[in-house]
Amino acid sequence: MVQSSVLGFPRIGAFRELKKTTEAYWSGKVGKDELFKVGKEIRENNWKLQKAAGVDVIASNDFSYYDQVLDLSLLFNAIPERYTKYELDPIDTLFAMGRGLQRKATDSEKAVDVTALEMVKWFDSNYHYVRPTFSHSTEFKLNGQKPVDEYLEAKKLGIETRPVVVGPVSYLFLGKADKDSLDLEPISLLEKILPVYAELLAKLSAAGATSVQIDEPILVLDLPEKVQAAFKTAYEYLANAKNIPKLVVASYFGDVRPNLASIKGLPVHGFHFDFVRAPEQFDEVVAALTAEQVLSVGIIDGRNIWKADFSEAVAFVEKAIAALGKDRVIVATSSSLLHTPVDLTNEKKLDSEIKNWFSFATQKLDEVVVVAKAVSGEDVKEALSVNAAAIKSRKDSAITNDADVQKKVDSINEKLSSRAAAFPERLAAQKGKFNLPLFPTTTIGSFPQTKDIRINRNKFTKGEITAEQYDTFIKSEIEKVVRFQEEIGLDVLVHGEPERNDMVQYFGEQLKGFAFTTNGWVQSYGSRYVRPPVVVGDVSRPHAMSVKESVYAQSISKKPMKGMLTGPITVLRWSFPRNDVSQKVQAPQLGLDMRDEVNELEPPSVEVIQVDEPAIREGLPLRSGQERSDYLKYATESFRIGTSGVKNTNQIHSHFCYSDLDPNHIKALDADVVSIEFSKKDDPNYIQEFSNYPNHIGLGLFDIHSPRIPSKEEFIARIGEILKVYPADKFWVNPDCGLKTRGWEEVRASLTNMVEAAKTYREKYAQN
Ligand SMILES: [Zn+2]
Repeated sequence: MVQSSVLGFPRIGAFRELKKTTEAYWSGKVGKDELFKVGKEIRENNWKLQKAAGVDVIASNDFSYYDQVLDLSLLFNAIPERYTKYELDPIDTLFAMGRGLQRKATDSEKAVDVTALEMVKWFDSNYHYVRPTFSHSTEFKLNGQKPVDEYLEAKKLGIETRPVVVGPVSYLFLGKADKDSLDLEPISLLEKILPVYAELLAKLSAAGATSVQIDEPILVLDLPEKVQAAFKTAYEYLANAKNIPKLVVASYFGDVRPNLASIKGLPVHGFHFDFVRAPEQFDEVVAALTAEQVLSVGIIDGRNIWKADFSEAVAFVEKAIAALGKDRVIVATSSSLLHTPVDLTNEKKLDSEIKNWFSFATQKLDEVVVVAKAVSGEDVKEALSVNAAAIKSRKDSAITNDADVQKKVDSINEKLSSRAAAFPERLAAQKGKFNLPLFPTTTIGSFPQTKDIRINRNKFTKGEITAEQYDTFIKSEIEKVVRFQEEIGLDVLVHGEPERNDMVQYFGEQLKGFAFTTNGWVQSYGSRYVRPPVVVGDVSRPHAMSVKESVYAQSISKKPMKGMLTGPITVLRWSFPRNDVSQKVQAPQLGLDMRDEVNELEPPSVEVIQVDEPAIREGLPLRSGQERSDYLKYATESFRIGTSGVKNTNQIHSHFCYSDLDPNHIKALDADVVSIEFSKKDDPNYIQEFSNYPNHIGLGLFDIHSPRIPSKEEFIARIGEILKVYPADKFWVNPDCGLKTRGWEEVRASLTNMVEAAKTYREKYAQN
């Protein structure tokens, strides 16, 4: 029998149970007991579900209350001193590192004020991990035994699992040096961390685990030589350590071939590779295995929601069996299923034709099992023919293909993607028009999504209030936000986006060619989950999407108002894209829709338009080369198609966050002003890199994921640091990102302090 394997299952619960409980815990409404109880229930449900589906190799330690990489930092004691000094419980230390903590002193507790660690995108996905942060004083040691506890928890249910941990080379490489130790290269800590990995693995072995999935996802990146060499050091060390379970080194999201020499011959039980993303690596990775090593064939897509094509998957696995024999092949999901929604059966509103094309995490369990059975010679004819019919139905459907859209895309020419004049000329025209002060202040777009907003949206969706009533409500919310911004003295205002559930979903819902779920939540970071729309066919814009709200907001204020849109790449990347055509085909369709929207915003009154492209960096192919330059070309072009139709006097803004941006990529977009998340960037070189950015730039000054409020002095100090290298006349003052997840009290205080700090510098520069 060929075994089936799942690399990890979503840990949020089918109805977002984890979010509800963690947020209740943070606000003091429930205690640790309740939090841990819900966590345990989710883990147990997940294991039972996989067992019932017939999955042979089930993961444990794939659960986390915040992030699996952060869990490791806590477990290995890579906890910067600023968190340990408060003597918090482990779970509170975890949350403080993940999201910061600011707490007044009470009779029983000390006051706490600490910022979060940096958060970055997990490879090219929309999941964010908390970056391990090391210093010369980091002392690795086992600080708890979460993987062992969760392994035993499953065992108690009679379910044997394969614990999963991020491997030593990836863990270090994905980390960074703390600001007091900038000369430290994380990979140089390898020898210090290996004994701790060995100790953890020995503990798992003592608990009964016979094999461990050790993730080394960085194998799909371009790696410095030192890091390539680290694999040999690490896995030879672990192979020589005592009482170590069998190790299966797992990589996903790409092609490992450029790093194959570093892992060839490693003394490990086997490897897992992603053949959904990189089927072309098959021959070479198979040839690189030793005569005993097993190959876990990642063939069921862990990153998308489309049904697998069983005939293709079976044929692929059979190729592996022909090369290696049945005993050395495992049928697996391409990656953890963390990136897919939990269960399609909870979708009651999806069109049945479209629903028949989808497969969520729970359905993917069956897919892995059916493919494993098929290649083992079991009778699964029925399942195969039902699958073949679904695949055919999608291919032939009128929803998939729209000839009008294809015609419009064919007419794209170069003129469509360039502004009428270059930046200096536009800047002069805009200066006369907006008359903004030095250090203009603005926000990124969204304001708190209050309970009241959610209640009214819900009522409207359910038909309990009329469209006019909802409209009136939204207008009153916009007015509240506008008046607030005027009151504290912001220079370029926003309408606050009360009408938007999500920056991508909101646009997707109004475009033709998208489908939506009611429960299709996926974790983005911590307790923030998103419900990505699905691009099911060619995309077009039947009507205006944001014009009404933006025009209204501008009509009630004399200050410039930004019209807020989400860029084509972000809409695409934060949706589940089609897998029948490339993203290169899908992106310009969205660019054309954005252009129509921008052009419709412009004539009445909205003269500043922000098109957010936070996902542009995450879409960058993980390796340099042809694929990357192709991507940059179509991504840039799609953005420019959207934004180049406006007059020189109109100001185009764009925004980026939570990824290591290359200023050159942003430069190519030619936006007049860009704002980027910056508050946790400590590296002076990074600030320096951006100082050559030719257009105007807003470097984010406070962390919007954290409830803590920076003081005016803190803002002054931060701006001062930046101004040491950054030209004052190009510099905008703004937060890291949108404020929708924050409460009004925090927003009011933080923004007031920020604006006051900008005024201080304005006065200072006026005197000089
Ligand atoms: Zn952002």
